[in-house]
Amino acid sequence: METFRIGEIDVARIIESEGTFLHINRMFPDATEQALRPYRHWLEPGALCPKTGKMILPVQSYLVRTPHHRILIDACVGNHKSTDFFKPWHNLQSMAWMNNLAAAGMRPEDIDYVLCTHLHFDHSGWNTRLIDGQWMPTFANARYLFARQEYTRAENRGGVSFEENVVPVMEAGLGIIVDDDHAIDDHVWLEPTFGHTAGHVVIHLASQGQHAVMIGDIMHSPVQCEEPDWHSIADDDIDAARATRKRILDRYCETKTRVMTAHFPSPSTGFLIPGNKAFRFDYAKN
Ligand SMILES: [Zn+2]
Repeated sequence: METFRIGEIDVARIIESEGTFLHINRMFPDATEQALRPYRHWLEPGALCPKTGKMILPVQSYLVRTPHHRILIDACVGNHKSTDFFKPWHNLQSMAWMNNLAAAGMRPEDIDYVLCTHLHFDHSGWNTRLIDGQWMPTFANARYLFARQEYTRAENRGGVSFEENVVPVMEAGLGIIVDDDHAIDDHVWLEPTFGHTAGHVVIHLASQGQHAVMIGDIMHSPVQCEEPDWHSIADDDIDAARATRKRILDRYCETKTRVMTAHFPSPSTGFLIPGNKAFRFDYAKN
């Protein structure tokens, strides 16, 4: 179990899966063979499969223990969920995520808050689980805080993931719609970072002068630090996503802010430093 501290806050990564994903050129239309050449030597083999050209990425949550609260950031794909975006994640039936949560010393009923950077299916799946044919909130004692604009976006779009991962939480009375810059307290707060989705937020953690930020899907691969213009096919608003990515990269380059990513290969967190062309991701050692 990989953990780190931000002042008095304990953080653990709860991994659901880590493996090959789409071909990198399918995910990033700009990532042609030629455009990738300068980066292959540091992307392979951790972030890019040398044989197939497929991206390698984890799907994971962050378990955050502050002096006051136990908070889950993002909820992976979950079991028995429906998606046609990436076949291996359709109707997943794996105990990996639950076992990793247990290994972190946490039961679902111990979680106080669930936060989702956005409501795509691979960030909200464990919000619910199937019990006797019914979708039930996985975290029965938690408040699920949904950022207003993201909730509205996902509700307007509808679809199976909203029906499976969000509606049952609202029906159980556990969902609360909050402002896009909502603060739980001095330790944990949201910041609107629209682009990947029209309501995407990042989640800040701070304690004793230390700071970290979980950036959700602002970037999907470390290659985007050097090529922040490269958008992914999952970005809703390409120009807004680009502007947001650059703003975050600029703001935290050469700072002590620990950047926690959703999908960079393990160990997934690190620090932004200047790169050859733009920025580079310096993976954390602990
Ligand atoms: Zn994602």
